[in-house]
Amino acid sequence: MRGAVIYAPGDVRFENLDDPKILQPTDAVIRTVATCVCGSDLWPYRGAEPIGDPHPMGHEYVGVVEEVGGEVTHVEPGQFVVGSFATSDNTCANCLNGWQSSCLHREFMSTCQADYVRIPNAHGTLVATDGHPDAAFVPGLLAVSDVMGTGWYAALAAEVKPGSTAVVGDGAVGLCGVIAAEELGAERIIAMSRHESRQKLALEFGATDIISERGDEGIARVKDLTGGIGADSVLECVGTAESMRQALHSARPGGNVGFVGVPHEVQVDGEELFFSQVGLRGGPAPVRRYLPDLIDRVLTGRINPGKVFDLTLPLDQVAEGYKTMDERRAVKALLKP
Ligand SMILES: [Zn+2]
Repeated sequence: MRGAVIYAPGDVRFENLDDPKILQPTDAVIRTVATCVCGSDLWPYRGAEPIGDPHPMGHEYVGVVEEVGGEVTHVEPGQFVVGSFATSDNTCANCLNGWQSSCLHREFMSTCQADYVRIPNAHGTLVATDGHPDAAFVPGLLAVSDVMGTGWYAALAAEVKPGSTAVVGDGAVGLCGVIAAEELGAERIIAMSRHESRQKLALEFGATDIISERGDEGIARVKDLTGGIGADSVLECVGTAESMRQALHSARPGGNVGFVGVPHEVQVDGEELFFSQVGLRGGPAPVRRYLPDLIDRVLTGRINPGKVFDLTLPLDQVAEGYKTMDERRAVKALLKP
């Protein structure tokens, strides 16, 4: 089969690789129907994370089951499945508590930008749809496997409630966070965005206000819109020191920040956090918990997170997907084998 391999910053190649095999009785192998490039894939691509030896890439996927191990009984060959970037047995204590992304047997997906993918913990990770979905739903279902699931978690972690005020960014996860905030009943959704096309999508997804300023000016604008105190809920979906600082200062006393961008050199000052009275919860989203609900919302047309993909490429042009996203010419690239 063929798949993406990263060698060095800016150097992603499409190569012939060994076909994945069932290694454990809990594994499945799927044929990829669609995969994509994640904002977090750009960290190593930009040299902000060590790469080490050349290795495959990708953790978002929807596909058709090819083969299952002996202990996989929830799904069978031929079914269309959606999974999560973090695999889970769905039976351990953390899974039963709804924190499948901290499953005691968790393995993170990392080889999905390829024709075929081995899914560890397949019995607990994969959710099959009722029949094969119409092609029009594939981008939305793919989004559910990470960006939409992560945006949903960010909104819940930030405790978005009916009637609340939420602040979000305009990356792929942030835009899905707008969808989540809207679905969870936020009355006012403030999108921080300076790109016209992303502003348009945020408004379409339910944003009520757009703020194009950043940093202290952005924080001041949020306070202008929230009676001078800050927002109830802030979704931090980037992971830089600046985005975290802006999020913490945009929330009101008693408000909450949900942070889902993998932090890179983020420091939180204990004394500042203490006096802010802001709640802070983050981490890898327990997407598996939300899969059945989010799949249903996509297939009933209630939400369309597939719109965050503004570029579709054949899988063999995966390097172009990275380059385009790195140069911010695309929000998110969908790849089709
Ligand atoms: Zn588990």
